[in-house]
Amino acid sequence: MIVVLSKDITTHDKEMILLYLRDRGFTPREQTLGDDAVIGASGKGSVELRELSLLPGVERVAATSKPYELASRESRPDDTIVTVGGEGGLPAVKIGGSRITIIAGPCAVESKAQIAETAARVRESGAVILRGGAYKPRTSPYAFQGLGMEGLEYMKAAGEACGMPIVTEVVSPELAVQMRDLVDMFQIGARNMQNFELLKKVGSLGKPVLLKRGPSATIEEWLLSAEYLLASGTRDVVLCERGIRTFETYTRNTLDISAIPVVKGLSHLPVIVDPSHAVGIRDKVSQAALAAIAAGADGLTVEVHPRPDTALSDGPQSLYPEQFEKLMRDIEALSPVVGKELLRTPRKGAAIGAAKRAASEPAAAAPAPAELPIAFCGEAGAFAEQALMRIAGEDAPRLKTESFKGIFDAVLEGSARAGLVPVENSLSGSVHENYDLFLRYPDIVIAGELKLRIVHCLVADEQATLESIRVVRSHPQGFAQCRDFLDKYPQWTHEASATTASAVVSIARERAPHLAAIASDAAARIHGLKVLREGIETNPLNYTRFLVIARRPPRADDSRPTLAQVPALASLAFPAPNKASLAFGVLHEPGSLSECLRILSEAGINMSKLESRPIQGKPWEYLFYVDISLPESEAAFAAAMEGLKKRTREFHFLGAYHAAA
Ligand code: PEP
Ligand code: MN
Repeated sequence: MIVVLSKDITTHDKEMILLYLRDRGFTPREQTLGDDAVIGASGKGSVELRELSLLPGVERVAATSKPYELASRESRPDDTIVTVGGEGGLPAVKIGGSRITIIAGPCAVESKAQIAETAARVRESGAVILRGGAYKPRTSPYAFQGLGMEGLEYMKAAGEACGMPIVTEVVSPELAVQMRDLVDMFQIGARNMQNFELLKKVGSLGKPVLLKRGPSATIEEWLLSAEYLLASGTRDVVLCERGIRTFETYTRNTLDISAIPVVKGLSHLPVIVDPSHAVGIRDKVSQAALAAIAAGADGLTVEVHPRPDTALSDGPQSLYPEQFEKLMRDIEALSPVVGKELLRTPRKGAAIGAAKRAASEPAAAAPAPAELPIAFCGEAGAFAEQALMRIAGEDAPRLKTESFKGIFDAVLEGSARAGLVPVENSLSGSVHENYDLFLRYPDIVIAGELKLRIVHCLVADEQATLESIRVVRSHPQGFAQCRDFLDKYPQWTHEASATTASAVVSIARERAPHLAAIASDAAARIHGLKVLREGIETNPLNYTRFLVIARRPPRADDSRPTLAQVPALASLAFPAPNKASLAFGVLHEPGSLSECLRILSEAGINMSKLESRPIQGKPWEYLFYVDISLPESEAAFAAAMEGLKKRTREFHFLGAYHAAA
């Protein structure tokens, strides 16, 4: 049983709770769970839970039915998000929640040059934490045992040079103390999962810990080892499935994919997967890695070596950097399908060219302070809010607006540092209102893009059933996207609401069993309603494209929009731009549009979207909205933009930004 204490509890009240528990036959222990101070109570005592929960200083009581208490989902219903790094100039990398976090590096640190080269390569492909063994527990005493503290120093330096926190295996309690100041995250290796003295020592050091599953450990044994770490004081534990020993000999181990959803149900701790040690065969590692992401893993730890054939350990399972790059691209494409976002952290001066760097580095104009909120339209639980959290994190300050225009206003006035606007749905097409707003707000530019998978749910009050429902509320898009489902219930009336989330809010207020909403499961959770049916959209390939908008920094020469004028949102880690959006009106003469397209094609610029929109206030005049990919050559791009300006009646450069696959 876990008693979660209120933040402002007095010493006296805490003593009374401890006494209360002891009197009733429990052994209470003061512990921490995430951000909460808790009392864990074990033993054969019995207690009236309601009475206990009413004692002064008690926030809530969780009756855990599992032998592991602190690690159990019952003790903490929300996902734990673990932070690694964040000190000494390193980014704070998060694991858990709606992000996918990739750890990569060699099996072992072999030399200063090898770890530096590997770090740079995996960073370039998007890994955010560097792995590598300095102390290697090898099956054979004659195999390479690692470079020890010297290797750790090399690894720390490589991590610092690339802006990556490091994770490395610790094999004894004595070494844990020696290594503490150099590591950002300790790894407990599979062979040491039940080395309880090691767990206790490492847990007491307070650093995040990556706990590998033992080759023969059951899920319960694994979670009990996590309990050792949590009970010794650390709050940041990440579980790592790395394959278990079965009768199969073709692969090095057997990747227990089913453990991922099972453990995520049993525990609030993040779960990542090590496909390298699980499979042991280089050419099969990426498939297993993608399966792990599809099964709900919060990330991966992958072995990568610049020259695997010469690796001192685990060469046969180490990916070539090119294979890792391909895997990262596949993960980026897969992430929205499972409702997650591949985590990026800002790079330190990636050498891609001044203009392309502009979107990930502070601009000359004062960058917006990270504490300022990001604006979105709608209520808590709106799809736009999910998009916002993907980009800026669950705890990012946010500003709700009542209209799309409100987002543009907030960003322009400076009450928000950025905004999130939906511009296109893969089923229903463009959100024209926002395209028009770009023209009305010339000082707003596009700084980023995110594709969110839209999964609609039928949301209702606790007592409601499919039979009791008579009225369904949603945004018109919600109805349009769930047409097949709704056709089965012709007796239901449909009431339009401003957003899907506002439909949920109205039902949470009225709490009547005949009402339901079509909205996200997040909106249902946040507003205390239940999901009656999940995934009711007609076509599961339903994505909405959101654009991140920001204020255009002041520029000297207003007539020449170039990539370098894109504002920076330093703390939102967008990779280098690969796409730009333009809007232009062509001259009234034959061939004028084809002339513009010729300029693009001759510059080697690929066009991904072309749409015409009526110009407001000018009947029968149209503007073309064009999305293009950025060519390698900046000069070619600038010349093409210059050419377009000359051949058009009006020309707007809406921004250059990174678009995921
Ligand atoms: C490793 O990650 O380097 C390692 C030795 O893994 P495991 O403990 O899972 O065998
Ligand atoms: Mn290895």
